[in-house]
Amino acid sequence: MSSPSFDVIVIGAGPAGLTAGIYLARAKMRTLILNEGTVGGQLVLTHEVANYPGVESTSGYQLATTMRNQAQKFGCTIRSNVSVTKLDLEGETKSVEVNGRETVTAHAVILAPGGRSRTLGVPGESDLRGKGISYCATCDGDFFQDKNIIVVGGGNSALEEAVSLTKYASSVTTVHQFDHFQASAHAVEEAMQNPKISFIMESTIAEFIGQESLESVQVKHIPTGEVTEIAIEGAFIFIGYVPNTETLHGLVDLNQAGEIKVSPFLETNVSGVFAAGDSITKRYRQITTAVADGTVAALSAIDYLSTVSESRTAEEVLHI
Ligand SMILES: Cc1cc2nc3c(=O)[nH]c(=O)nc-3n(C[C@H](O)[C@H](O)[C@H](O)COP(=O)(O)OP(=O)(O)OC[C@H]3O[C@@H](n4cnc5c(N)ncnc54)[C@H](O)[C@@H]3O)c2cc1C
Repeated sequence: MSSPSFDVIVIGAGPAGLTAGIYLARAKMRTLILNEGTVGGQLVLTHEVANYPGVESTSGYQLATTMRNQAQKFGCTIRSNVSVTKLDLEGETKSVEVNGRETVTAHAVILAPGGRSRTLGVPGESDLRGKGISYCATCDGDFFQDKNIIVVGGGNSALEEAVSLTKYASSVTTVHQFDHFQASAHAVEEAMQNPKISFIMESTIAEFIGQESLESVQVKHIPTGEVTEIAIEGAFIFIGYVPNTETLHGLVDLNQAGEIKVSPFLETNVSGVFAAGDSITKRYRQITTAVADGTVAALSAIDYLSTVSESRTAEEVLHI
């Protein structure tokens, strides 16, 4: 085998990538994590994490910082706010071009690029993004002190964030396209019991209206087609996610939704390339599932490296 600069390069420093980094670095693998944006991924958008076992309640930012410190303590190199401009995943040595000018190489790659918020794609949305329309309650909730706002969506994120936004807003109207929610019973109950939250069911957003900033929204009742205009100053949209896999088309197998296809051991169809976290084909996207994926992908990568290098086994490097 040639001598790449790293044993493993991890693409993405969300919970999946950081966990992979912890396991790899602790196993003495020379590990580089490359991340576009802030370390932590979607974690840093999460106001409060209350479902991570062993930690009763913490902020997403704090949890991400602890994961990053833990990975670095074991010797993992983390580079954030970089742009991965080219990936060559074939062959025994994988190469990754960073910022269009520097190439780093490794024996194996773990893809953990996560996902991002889905947009509604209705008139006014892109123009008023950042001018009243937001996809992150933690980032922007404070701007809506004593304002009337809407939340679009009916899953866990929508209802949990609707509740968290009541700390700032005077009223939160939740607009959802179905007659029932997709959120957990606990999230539904908490939102229902909050006196600041009201619900408009079986309805979609037809248009966002505003000049300098958001002023009103047209809400369409799906069964009747009736459109009602509601004066609001803020809109938070939580309607799902899109995997960050656009740059992976043609490099690894993706399904129709753009999710990376993986084996039970989180191998992709390309030898030496593994994937973890929200970007893979799976049903439940949580911090715990991303962390579990990061563990499995790292152990699979270590196993792969032990078979190609013959220098050490996964048991030896893991001390298990
Ligand atoms: C508002 C909100 C609240 C949530 N609340 C909870 C909660 O309370 N509990 C819970 O369990 N889960 C929660 N989640 C879900 C949880 O945050 C995600 O499931 C988890 O962060 C997924 O981890 P990940 O590592 O797969 O991806 P991500 O967290 O998305 O991280 C991926 C990282 O990869 C980077 N990246 C993307 N493409 C590239 C590229 N080409 N090159 C380099 N880097 C790249 C991204 O910038 C990002 O930093 C919440 C999510 C949101 C949005």
